[in-house]
Amino acid sequence: MTHPLSRRTVVKSLVWVSAGTVFGERRAAAEPAKLSVSDPAAVALGYVENASQVDSKKYPNYVKGSTCENCLKLEGKPGDAYRPCELFKDKVVSVNGWCSGWTAEM
Ligand code: SF4
Repeated sequence: MTHPLSRRTVVKSLVWVSAGTVFGERRAAAEPAKLSVSDPAAVALGYVENASQVDSKKYPNYVKGSTCENCLKLEGKPGDAYRPCELFKDKVVSVNGWCSGWTAEM
C-alpha cells in the first residue's frame, strides 16, 4: 500500500510554505519611502527635512521651534526618526522637518 502523499509532494509543499514565509516577512519589513523635498506634494507645502531650513519670509506662519515632531498630523511610533504624516500618505517624514501644514498639538 502506498501513502497518498508522496515524498515529492511533501517536499514541494514545504518549499512553498518556506518561500511564502520569507516573502511575507520581507513585505512586512518593507518601510515606506522617505518623503523627498523635491516631491511635488512636498514642494507645494514647503516641506524641509530640517525645520532650521524654513524660509520664514516665504512661510510667515512658521512658528520658531515647530517641527514635525510637535505637529498634530505626525503619526507612527514616537522615537522613530522618520514617521508617517497625515498629509503625505505612503511616505514618512523627518521628525525634525516642517511643512506649511504644521498644526500645533493640543
Ligand atoms: Fe511635518 Fe506636520 Fe507638515 Fe506632516 S503636516 S510634514 S508632520 S509639519
